[in-house]
Amino acid sequence: LSDFYLALVHWPVYNKNRQVIASALTTVDLHDLSRLAATYELAGLYVVTPLEDQVAVAEMMIEHWCRGWGARYIPTRAEALSLVRLVDSLNDARADVARNQGLPPLLVGTSAVGAPDRVAFSEMGAYERSDRPVMIVLGTAWGLADEVFEQCDLTLEPIRGPGNYNHLSVRTAAGIILDRLLGPRQI
Ligand code: SAM
Repeated sequence: LSDFYLALVHWPVYNKNRQVIASALTTVDLHDLSRLAATYELAGLYVVTPLEDQVAVAEMMIEHWCRGWGARYIPTRAEALSLVRLVDSLNDARADVARNQGLPPLLVGTSAVGAPDRVAFSEMGAYERSDRPVMIVLGTAWGLADEVFEQCDLTLEPIRGPGNYNHLSVRTAAGIILDRLLGPRQI
């Protein structure tokens, strides 16, 4: 079975006006996604940002919860946050996995917007059973910039409910995606 990773991308992403920006980290993203990663026994959560001050925020938070007062207050949080790896770019995340695993990960883009080339969840089984690591690439702000999708090997179909609304938070989307790919088969 493949090792799975999450990548939370803060650059390049779009803002409201579809300009490429580097979004700020949201600490709740790091808490929620690292707990999700620990729950599904992922091999790591890569947090992608080129902004030095944002890296400092994340490092201070991780220090607090992994080695500081927080680690004593909620020990289980340290276990989750120890999965976080801070990198400058998606390329750095990809190279880090290739170094650790001997194989570069399959990069799987995600988006609320559908397109003809999207891969259905039901088609992902073959990738799960391969020996190649899989990295689910998540966006922030108003979504991943086009150049990120060009870097990905495939893009998953959007999560949809019965209605037309499907603008989920990255935390909710990641939870649904992981459970669909790695959770117990419901049907
Ligand atoms: N500030 C927002 C928040 O609260 O998270 C950021 C939204 S961010 C654009 C949403 C990200 O979550 C997308 O880049 C994508 O990775 C994922 N996402 C959101 N809705 C989705 C959907 N319906 N299907 C698949 N992925 C989705």
